[in-house]
Amino acid sequence: MSDSVLDETFSLLTELIQNKCVNPPGDEMKSIKSIEKFLKKKGVNCKTFESAPNRGNLVAKIEGLEKNHPGLIFGPSHVDVVPVTKLEDWDVDPFAGVIKDGYIWGRGTLDMLFIVATQVQAFAKLHKENFEPKGDLVLFIVADEECGGMYGAKWMIDNHFEELGFKNKKMYAVTESGGITIAPGKLIFINGEKGIFLKRLKFKGTPGHGSMPYASNNAILKASKAATLLSDYCDKKIPVNTQYLSDLVKGMDMNFLTRFMITKKKLLPFTLKILKKRKPEMAKLLHALSRMTISPNIVKGGTKTNIIATDAQLVLDIRTLPGQDEKYVISHIKKALGNLAEEVEIVEVEEGGFKSIGSASPANSDFVIMMEKAIQKEIPNAKLVPLVAMGATDGRFLREQNVDTYGYSLCDPDVPMNEYIELIHGINERISIKTIELSLRVYYNLAKEFLT
Ligand SMILES: [Zn+2]
Repeated sequence: MSDSVLDETFSLLTELIQNKCVNPPGDEMKSIKSIEKFLKKKGVNCKTFESAPNRGNLVAKIEGLEKNHPGLIFGPSHVDVVPVTKLEDWDVDPFAGVIKDGYIWGRGTLDMLFIVATQVQAFAKLHKENFEPKGDLVLFIVADEECGGMYGAKWMIDNHFEELGFKNKKMYAVTESGGITIAPGKLIFINGEKGIFLKRLKFKGTPGHGSMPYASNNAILKASKAATLLSDYCDKKIPVNTQYLSDLVKGMDMNFLTRFMITKKKLLPFTLKILKKRKPEMAKLLHALSRMTISPNIVKGGTKTNIIATDAQLVLDIRTLPGQDEKYVISHIKKALGNLAEEVEIVEVEEGGFKSIGSASPANSDFVIMMEKAIQKEIPNAKLVPLVAMGATDGRFLREQNVDTYGYSLCDPDVPMNEYIELIHGINERISIKTIELSLRVYYNLAKEFLT
């Protein structure tokens, strides 16, 4: 990439940071206008869509020459960012777009404005070169990912489905996270995400004097028993699925014994037990990738120190594997509770609260091979390793429409994985100049590789 192409990308990224599209309220139209201006200057036509006042989305397209050739979507890539907490701990103004020490600093740089800027620039560059793809190349920039996507990706699919070009065609999408080096020469790509369900369990008791608790009907004791039962069930009895672990360890080229220990369902509890002491972070990941997890994270109850508790509540953070739905969640909560299930009322944490069903795209396909090839042009012999992410992204809305969607970029292999994890939504969020350059190249390579 020439210096001017890179410089333009840096200044677009800086402008996106300075637009300060903190969600809520988002006000993403500012950044959508910046991108529109950038594209227009390069002769690229695009359409913008206002989902609510000041909430914007953008689509640009290069039509494919062959009607039935699968297409590629850059996106859905979001321009909104999360708020800044602990401003006093930042080394720079998070909304100034400071460039120093080989990084561009600011809220949203990593999640995911650097991807927005590089995808926009890769698209513009291909357009300028009169790229004639076999299938459609679509640039899809959205609002509102950080608060659920109802004014962004979801709204676009519900209201402007035809603009996105995946009505009668197989499409593939590349969007946020991925491209991080997990071991020398091994890079993660995100092929799916776990689902999220938040539930409140309510228990009732009978009032009585706290001085004589024997054989009392105490709601807090029920909630406490429920917490233990749920946690035990999740570790020991819940159905285990080792498919996502297998995909991961296969890609990592682990030795036969380690692979066997991790992917054999019967051995997994034993493996987790050993890892818990030696590599606790690894144990956490393997546990979470192999099952629905339940974590009781809030407990409330009781009114007065000398009254037997008549009410208690337990709030659960539940993360499901792809495909596991609400019915699955409820049935396993009840199973875990056993007899106590008769005494519980299970409700939403809040009316209309956030929930999502997990989804996954194939870990192996011709498209995945193309993604790997596009990376190998920059890092020869690099291998892609599939990972199912723990959090929800807009990717799920596209997977619902049969679009294979992947978290895919190319991050500076010299930056350790932990740094990325700490910086997302964190203090001193920043992106290295090298990552911007590599990602720009890799999106460009992928379009060339896949569409010609
Ligand atoms: Zn994001």
